[in-house]
Amino acid sequence: MSDNKLITVTSPLLPKLDEFHEMLKQIWESKWITNNGSFHKQLEKELAAYLKVPYVSLFTNGTLPLITVLQALHITGEVITTPYSFVATTHALWWNGIKPVFVDIDLSTGNIDPDKIESAITPRTTAIMPVHVYGKPCNTKRIKEIADKYGLKVIYDAAHAFGVEVNGESVLNAGDMSTLSFHATKVYNTIEGGAMVMHDEETKRRIDYLKNFGFHGETEVIAPGINSKMDEMRSAYGILNLRQVDAAIEARHQVAIKYRENLRNVKGITFFDDMPGVKHNYSYFPIFVDAEEYGMTRDELYEKMKAANVYGRRYFYPLISEFSTYRGLESARPENLPNARKMANSVICLPMHHELSDEDINRILKLVLR
Ligand SMILES: *Cc1c(COP(=O)(O)O)cnc(C)c1O
Repeated sequence: MSDNKLITVTSPLLPKLDEFHEMLKQIWESKWITNNGSFHKQLEKELAAYLKVPYVSLFTNGTLPLITVLQALHITGEVITTPYSFVATTHALWWNGIKPVFVDIDLSTGNIDPDKIESAITPRTTAIMPVHVYGKPCNTKRIKEIADKYGLKVIYDAAHAFGVEVNGESVLNAGDMSTLSFHATKVYNTIEGGAMVMHDEETKRRIDYLKNFGFHGETEVIAPGINSKMDEMRSAYGILNLRQVDAAIEARHQVAIKYRENLRNVKGITFFDDMPGVKHNYSYFPIFVDAEEYGMTRDELYEKMKAANVYGRRYFYPLISEFSTYRGLESARPENLPNARKMANSVICLPMHHELSDEDINRILKLVLR
């Protein structure tokens, strides 16, 4: 094998082809290919059990549950959120005619800084939408206290937080609802896919109507819903991937251990350690480059890696608040977001997936170690 083989930031967890074929045969026989079929129902149940949450509603990607949850909770006006995320977080607000209000992050986690939330609340604020960035849990307790004090809803974009637990409890149980993404690049994928997590059966029923045009039975439409149902093929694929996701997460954990061992004493490079009491999913391995101490800028390292066929990704650069749609907002002013800017300007996510070999890891490390 060439020692210059392409190493990408991630690689999708794929079911065994023969097992998937068996399930496809069943779908072909039943001819029930979408609309709450048996694999869809089965995956919702299995995910709820695996994730230790009461109810899961499957979606066709991770952006539509964000858009739908805002509709379901009748969120309007302004919503407090983070600029340090994937752009879909803020787009979901925009698609609902909601004004995003960016609050700076805490450099020790990359998540929204709860201490800066209160000063961003106005009479128009209706909700807080934080993100568990890289799967690192937000300070959910503190965020709940603030939300309760001001009567705000809390919706977590938990796209990175599949399987993450704090002291044995799923982080997905925090807030009014959480959303997940099962995109190919995520720890657990259904090719494209996503889900909403909710606390009670009534909410699940309502969300299930909303993701199917609002249909209740054949002739009644109870609300202006959307179409964001997951089909049977991807539900079956998801059932198979759920059986191997623990092994994939453990393989990622081993990669993180090797990265940390080797990068611990590199001047100018920092990274996150595991948080006490947290079961992590090792979805990403961000490193932060201090150009002065490291003697090379983040972008120089990024380009050097690329030239050696090792593709890291600058998640999350640029900040959402720097995209043209959002740049003009008062809260997007650079002075308002110094920590987010610092992180965005120093981050590289190193390749992280279940199939990285020791040889791959050594090649990556060599580039960072110089
Ligand atoms: C991936 C991601 C999404 C969007 O999910 P899709 O399944 O790609 O639509 C939303 N928010 C965050 C933080 C993400 O990383």
